[in-house]
Amino acid sequence: MVNQGELEVIIGLEVHIQLTKLRTKLFCGCTSNYRGKPPNTTTCEVCLALPGTLPVLNKSAVDYAILLGLALDSKVQGETFFFRKNYFYPDMAKNFQITQYDKAGGVPICVGGELLFSTKTGERKIRFSRLHLEEDPGRLSYDGSIVSSPHALVDYNRHGCTLIEAVTEPDMRSPEEARAFLKKLRSIVEHLGIADLSLDGSMRCDANISFKGYQRVEIKNISSVKEVERALKFEMMRQKQKIKAGGKIVMETRHWDETRRVTMSLRTKETEKDYRYFPEPDLVPLKIGKEYIEEIRDSLPELPDARRTRFVEEYGIPEYDATVIVSSKAMADFFEETCKIHHDPKNVSNWLMGDISRRLNELNVDIEETKLDANVLAGMLDLIKEGTISGKIAKKWIKGLLNGESVTSLLKKFGSKITDEAELLPIITDVIAQHPDTVQEVIDGDNPRTIEFLIGQVMRKTKGQADPEITRTLMEEEIKKA
Ligand SMILES: [Zn+2]
Repeated sequence: MVNQGELEVIIGLEVHIQLTKLRTKLFCGCTSNYRGKPPNTTTCEVCLALPGTLPVLNKSAVDYAILLGLALDSKVQGETFFFRKNYFYPDMAKNFQITQYDKAGGVPICVGGELLFSTKTGERKIRFSRLHLEEDPGRLSYDGSIVSSPHALVDYNRHGCTLIEAVTEPDMRSPEEARAFLKKLRSIVEHLGIADLSLDGSMRCDANISFKGYQRVEIKNISSVKEVERALKFEMMRQKQKIKAGGKIVMETRHWDETRRVTMSLRTKETEKDYRYFPEPDLVPLKIGKEYIEEIRDSLPELPDARRTRFVEEYGIPEYDATVIVSSKAMADFFEETCKIHHDPKNVSNWLMGDISRRLNELNVDIEETKLDANVLAGMLDLIKEGTISGKIAKKWIKGLLNGESVTSLLKKFGSKITDEAELLPIITDVIAQHPDTVQEVIDGDNPRTIEFLIGQVMRKTKGQADPEITRTLMEEEIKKA
């Protein structure tokens, strides 16, 4: 019998990053912007693999791969090769995929590397074994679940788009850690400007998961970062239960069914041998000079770690706030934009990390998917500062802010603070009349917090719009009179 406490989970990821910022595909001139286009319209003879066509390598794709390699401290290779990975699948028009290989004389474009990120338990380092370039297959679409669908349709629009596959060492120890790793990787990619990973299917994962001393299971084609943690959690639970029940974990490939939220065994028995890797004869070896690599290194933009340090120094916000904000490039950009208009950075970061993030989580969207506007947020923060609205009222604005409503319309909808004493006084005397016992307690002075209850009642009656300071002063005066 195995004690649950003794089981150590081991996770390694193969992350496929689609270079969405490239204008064209990896080996032809077709647009790589296939999203939203009618099926099978962004294709040509090359990416449909018609006989007699030849691939031509996209130089920008190579530059982007080098950029990512340098950002991850990976070693860019002086000479690299493309290989054919042979397999038959309807979404692969050529019956092979042009990719890179690290065996049989193959050298991927970048070898090694690492990524650091912080967790609750401290700093973590995940190593990369390699980064390689490859073409994306087309897409099969099912009617509902892969199991129950009566048919599969194929769309080659995506076929031939550029992927960088980043392969990690099995360094992760929990599904949460895998998510944190992916989040950091995503922020780095977005800071490099090589991909917009908020796009559907732009970051996909294969995950290897096992318990120490047991066989390894591969979960194929998890379609988004959000799903990775879910799939890993499910698989961890499945394996743990099996081990505890004395069952055997078989080495296999499993599919993550997003709809049913379970992993299922795929009866493919492909091993590396089945893929019959061999060098792609239609592409020459790619030589990358040292000077060329240095030129690209000089063009590296500010990356999340450097940006975090700058945020702490330039804006005076705590390290923790800065870490959370730079974990999304869009959030960090938005923060800086707002600070240009509203000059209280800590206030901006409080609202971003508090009420706004909470709402984004509820909606399960990223900040760039909303209509939140820096001018409007800054406008709201100015109104709080000058006392026109209270923080309490401002909380009601959040939903409208994300829907792109203007300051004027929100101010009209939720009103400003009630500062008029003539308006507040009758409400205060009402509250005093309704709570004689509490008023007596305030007069006795045993508990100085008792008055807060009475102020709270005024807030309730005014739906949070009474000015708290004025209310307190009036309340104290009225109780004295009583
Ligand atoms: Zn094409």
